[in-house]
Amino acid sequence: KVLITPRSFEKIKDKFEEVFKEEGIEVMLNPFGRVLTEEEMRELIRDVDGLIVGIDPVTSKVLKNANKLKVISKYGVGVDNIDILEAKKRNIVVTNTPGANSNAVAELTVGLIINVLRKINLSDKKTREGRWDRFIGNELSEKTLGVIGTGSIGRRVIELLKGFNLRVLCFDKYPDYEWASKEKVFYVTLDELLRSSDVVSIHVPLTEETYHMISEKELRMMKKNAVLINTSRGGIVDEDALYRFLKEGRISGAGLDVFEKEPPQNSPLLQLDNVVVTSHIGAHTEEAVANMAKLAVENLLLALKG
Ligand code: NAD
Repeated sequence: KVLITPRSFEKIKDKFEEVFKEEGIEVMLNPFGRVLTEEEMRELIRDVDGLIVGIDPVTSKVLKNANKLKVISKYGVGVDNIDILEAKKRNIVVTNTPGANSNAVAELTVGLIINVLRKINLSDKKTREGRWDRFIGNELSEKTLGVIGTGSIGRRVIELLKGFNLRVLCFDKYPDYEWASKEKVFYVTLDELLRSSDVVSIHVPLTEETYHMISEKELRMMKKNAVLINTSRGGIVDEDALYRFLKEGRISGAGLDVFEKEPPQNSPLLQLDNVVVTSHIGAHTEEAVANMAKLAVENLLLALKG
């Protein structure tokens, strides 16, 4: 028996029905059609052998109720919603779908960058309200892009932005100098990246180390006209500090697909005109959904078969 939680799976489930039937697997889809709570996960996981999971919590409390679980197949890349240590203790295999959604997230990142720089959302809103405010924005060409995390998504962002003739500065815990010299990009310290970049884009996973990696101290290093883009995880940025810096014009704008608490109800960030927000839709393209589903099912079946 397998529990599948991502909502987007519902639309493509027919594709896999035959495969599951052949393997004698009974599929239980998310009955609530939204991200599940810890309590709901605890109940639903009780007698399943496999789990395909999105961003629903797979905490130690949930895993303590998973008596038969052999595999957690993450539908996506970030496994910060899964207690990996607890899973390991229980001999549960954890897999993810690296690269399957990189292009989707990278394209959204590019969209957010241009949107923030040219105030597209604000202009759209004002024009609909009957106003004709001709905002002055900034161009991206010839500027300095700072990429925090040069994994799959960070590299794809750099690749997509090649036509803009940017100077690209990178920061990563594990720099790949060979790749950097081939791409003509430069690894620098985080401080140097923040001080020199016009656009800072975050592509590291959320871990204990990266939690609030961008806080007041780091924001203070950024240029006054710089913009911050986060399509990674909300917890990496201290949102209270970010709000203050944006409100006081100490950085110019932000594009956010992710929040510490999702949805970000009552977040003061939503009141600011220099912030463009989206609802964690980075990986939500038909192409990425199909890629992730295929890989997540393959991983699940391989692990179930041992
Ligand atoms: P990846 O594993 O390919 O790359 C992550 C990079 O971060 C690696 O190069 C790694 O060395 C680096 N890194 C890790 N810890 C670091 C640290 N403490 N300091 C500096 N660098 C560090 O992952 P990816 O596919 O590029 O995805 C990146 C993140 O994007 C995911 O972890 C996920 O949280 C997020 N994501 C968001 C969406 C969305 O819908 N918005 C979709 C997919 C992924």
